[in-house]
Amino acid sequence: MFKVIKYEGKARRGKFQCAHGGEVQTPVFMNVGTQAAIKGGVSALDLKELGCQIELSNTYHLHLRPSDDVVRQMGGLHKFMHWDGPILTDSGGFQVFSLAGLRKIKEEGVTFASHLDGHHIFMGPEESMRIQSNLGSDIAMAFDECVENPAPYKYAKDSCERTLRWLERCKAEHDKLNSLPDTVNPGQMLFGINQGATFEDLRIWHMKEIAKIDCDGYAIGGLAVGEPTQVMYDIIDAVEPYMPQDKPRYLMGVGTPSNIIEGVARGVDFFDCVMPARNARHGKLFTWGGAINLKNEKYKLDERSIDERCDCPTCRNFSRAYLRHLFKADEMLALRLAVMHNLYFYNKLTEHIRDALDAGEFAAFRAEYSEKLSERA
Ligand SMILES: [Zn+2]
Repeated sequence: MFKVIKYEGKARRGKFQCAHGGEVQTPVFMNVGTQAAIKGGVSALDLKELGCQIELSNTYHLHLRPSDDVVRQMGGLHKFMHWDGPILTDSGGFQVFSLAGLRKIKEEGVTFASHLDGHHIFMGPEESMRIQSNLGSDIAMAFDECVENPAPYKYAKDSCERTLRWLERCKAEHDKLNSLPDTVNPGQMLFGINQGATFEDLRIWHMKEIAKIDCDGYAIGGLAVGEPTQVMYDIIDAVEPYMPQDKPRYLMGVGTPSNIIEGVARGVDFFDCVMPARNARHGKLFTWGGAINLKNEKYKLDERSIDERCDCPTCRNFSRAYLRHLFKADEMLALRLAVMHNLYFYNKLTEHIRDALDAGEFAAFRAEYSEKLSERA
């Protein structure tokens, strides 16, 4: 399924095969389509043009609306949203702990109130696996608890011990579901998730334990939740030596272009983040010279594209002045064109990282862009 072709330091250039789509080239940035749509009016058809390799959808949101039963009856998520490439679904855990109200955690799972209408829902490892099986994604994520930052040590310890027990239950249920004759995607894979808040000893213990359970990949979860960036890097450095070399590694919910370059340098293969779409919706656009705010007065008569080095559909056709006008006039088209540019930029960023790794020049790429891309142009 996964093969590392080349190392440069800890950075890995790899290839990955899912039940849908061709070979995924890693490092890869997954494009977030929370409710089976990319916010900003971007469809699966657009994702093809934007160089997206893997789409990511949210279990929690799709379970609530339209419900995983509806998606299953419509032939699974690929058919429903008209995307034939790989799809990763998160477990719902993160949203249960960040969006839903009135949570009650027990050994069996979590009871929570829907953020839409307040009705009570129970979700545990088995429920999360069943929902993701109904969605028919290519990669299912294990059900975990993402603890708040900062977390007391005792709470973080109890929580990651429970998350380990939940992974064992996820694995058993996932194997069972995949073997059913009418399962939507019998080739669905399962990734385990490392937790342990910001405590390195818990993180390492937990990683060693989950590595004993035969998952198809391993993620580092519960980061980028408010801790300083250096703390995040230190945790990746601490955990990485205990992650299996022959399985893909996924840093969940991260991050800025600079965070991605630094994650790759620390041995991470998969990333996802809402940042490119969210920033775009506020007129904040990424360029190879740093970020710009398109709403700025100085772009009023600017005939140039967002980034003269970019050949995305937006930059090939429209000026900064036109896009600024669309934002000022609250036109929906502003969001769509801006989101398309930012997603293309992130997909291109990982492509450039892969090219640099292929050429044995990743260290030089990191030195040139890691700082620059985190600044304003
Ligand atoms: Zn562009």
